[in-house]
Amino acid sequence: MKQFGLTGGIGSGKSTVAAGLVERGAELVDADAIVRELQQPGQPVYAAMVERWGAAIVAEDGSLNRPAVADIVFNDGDELEALNQIVHPAVHEAMTNRRTALESTDAIVVNDIPLLVRADGSADRPEYAALLGIIVVDVPAELAVARLVEHRGFDPADAEARIANQASREDRLAVADFTIDNAGSLDDLEPQLDRCWAWLVETADATESAASAD
Ligand code: ADP
Repeated sequence: MKQFGLTGGIGSGKSTVAAGLVERGAELVDADAIVRELQQPGQPVYAAMVERWGAAIVAEDGSLNRPAVADIVFNDGDELEALNQIVHPAVHEAMTNRRTALESTDAIVVNDIPLLVRADGSADRPEYAALLGIIVVDVPAELAVARLVEHRGFDPADAEARIANQASREDRLAVADFTIDNAGSLDDLEPQLDRCWAWLVETADATESAASAD
């Protein structure tokens, strides 16, 4: 496999870009999506969470009431630790299985890593050394807020606060090997996704031939 990173602030359009790259042939590894899958009713993680916190974290339709979980762990370190102990090992195992399945293939793997660049501007975890390049989805903060409010039901102050707590646009752009400008319409995004996919294939091929020349 050939691994790349995809990042961007909340509301930048990362998930939209990820879906567009998957349409073009990429394999997506998305820890948040794996967490959501593992928290579906019927999954052991869901069962362990309901065993600990009871009906208070179950929505009317039986799915997990995420805001209720967030409320419980937000200001309580012990509860957060308990949540991590339920969720982390299962996510780690699922991520490892996904990577193992892709490892021996020639797949172009896009890792969706929302917090690749931390709030202090650093982006230096050892596992990022395996990434052949980083794609950054860039939008002005005001536009991200507007999209979160309009399409995802966020409260404006909450959306602003979350963005303020993340890395700045400048810090993210500083680590970009390929930048997608998502300030335009979804139609404007399509040709950029074509170019991004071409760049992924080119970069993956270049490392392939460099490796065989060794
Ligand atoms: P992220 O995953 O980075 O938080 P999303 O991909 O979920 O962001 O995008 C945030 C919201 O904005 C979604 O509802 C998405 O459909 C919408 N969106 C993304 N890109 C555009 C665009 N270019 N024009 C209009 N709406 C967009």
